[in-house]
Amino acid sequence: MLFRQESSDSRKLCQKRLAKERQTRFRKRQKINHERIMDERQKRVAKERLAKERQARLIKRQNIKKNNYPPEIQIPSGQEAYEAPDLRQKKLAKERQVQFRKSNNNERRISDELESILLHDLGQIDQICVHCGAKFWMEERDHSSNRASPTFSICCAHGKVLLPPLAEPPLYLLNLYTSSESDAISFRKNIRHYNSVLACTSFGANIDTFQGQGISNFCIHGQVYHQIGSLLPEEGHQPAFAQLYIYDSMHEIENRHNVIQELDKEILQNLLNMLDECNPYIKNFRHVRDLIQTNVSDDIFMVIYAD
Ligand SMILES: [Zn+2]
Repeated sequence: MLFRQESSDSRKLCQKRLAKERQTRFRKRQKINHERIMDERQKRVAKERLAKERQARLIKRQNIKKNNYPPEIQIPSGQEAYEAPDLRQKKLAKERQVQFRKSNNNERRISDELESILLHDLGQIDQICVHCGAKFWMEERDHSSNRASPTFSICCAHGKVLLPPLAEPPLYLLNLYTSSESDAISFRKNIRHYNSVLACTSFGANIDTFQGQGISNFCIHGQVYHQIGSLLPEEGHQPAFAQLYIYDSMHEIENRHNVIQELDKEILQNLLNMLDECNPYIKNFRHVRDLIQTNVSDDIFMVIYAD
């Protein structure tokens, strides 16, 4: 009887253990299932997000192709992205219309202004002073003369002022003025820079900087000065203007080229050679240079008398 009792107890225990094991296995399966479901859900969400991004990129490309303009940098949702091209096209059409009206108005205004301007034709500049040969327009004749036999006085006061004819420029300079070769074209393009870098003096005046409407003007008050400074630069200063003809002439081209680096060194050298040969002032500066180099005297003065 006792044995039967024990056997019944152990069977119950065994059943309990089995039930517990079943329950554990069930929970484990449930957990696995749950994790799998969660995984699948996450994957589905990620997949949907990628699809949305692909769609947005496709829409952007379509917008660029269709409207030839970059789409908005951020498109919040697919719905708005589909609407954007239409809105943008409307906006662009409106902008084009406004621009067209504006340019149309401008053209009309310019046309009206041109119509209101009276053309004044001076004719050909074909009149010549019989005394000095200066060229004139007919309207520049003396008020006392008539069109049949015009006379002119603003040139030479009827032959009272006799000016020597202008000297022919040196051949090298004439060639730079007139030739169609590349160095001559380059020279004419930078002619003011070449003039500045070879000038012996700097310009000084009381300049009026006021600019009103119309053609730009260069106005000065009072006296015009040509400043030349000392023959040699002051301690710690770079040589400038006439000083460049005297100081450190061994590196003259480099010194001048450093001032304006766009200039052609060969043209610069040729112009210097020409000035050395033809210009009396440059010859004087070179003479001063030679005196300083040979240490003839510590005190050298150069006096230029204005005629
Ligand atoms: Zn004249």
